[in-house]
Amino acid sequence: MRSDETTTAHCNKCGLDKPLDAFFQHPKHRTVCKACKSAQRQAWRAANPERNRASARRVYAADPEAARQAARTRYANNREKIAAQHKERYEREPERFRSYTSGWRGNNPEKAKRTRTQSQKKLQEASLPSAIRHGFEWTGWELEVVSDESRPISEVAKLIGRTYSATALMRHKVFNDPKTIIHAGLPNNEQG
Ligand SMILES: [Zn+2]
Repeated sequence: MRSDETTTAHCNKCGLDKPLDAFFQHPKHRTVCKACKSAQRQAWRAANPERNRASARRVYAADPEAARQAARTRYANNREKIAAQHKERYEREPERFRSYTSGWRGNNPEKAKRTRTQSQKKLQEASLPSAIRHGFEWTGWELEVVSDESRPISEVAKLIGRTYSATALMRHKVFNDPKTIIHAGLPNNEQG
């Protein structure tokens, strides 16, 4: 029986017979499977970083909106993988990662500011439904929770029933305004 030929094809790289949807191209070009093709592309990108960047710039310049949409889709489909890669890279080379991000921010100050403002706006909106203590006087316990920098501001805001922006402002004050520092029961930075 040769009926298999219509549903599978042979990859010349890994030598396996795979279903047609494991190949990117038209049958007559279908000589290397998707997995092998991806591996080849990745190897090429690693070996030619400058040309890879140039080609990415060309793709972007040809149709910026399509390129942005493709990046968004790629990110949405690989969120956890991308986050894990970032984490892994950060743990491997924290210095380089930091200098890369501050370098990007340095080169794109307006964009960085916009992104920051947008994400703060989202966090603020997300905090509104649980902000049942908005406008009330701050208690010592709340100031204590706010001064715990290991907790993200959005998490603290939810915990104490305040808005994101009120919580962010109070965290700033807890570490910078002497009156608030005393209220929060923190050492008043005497040794300077
Ligand atoms: Zn293959």
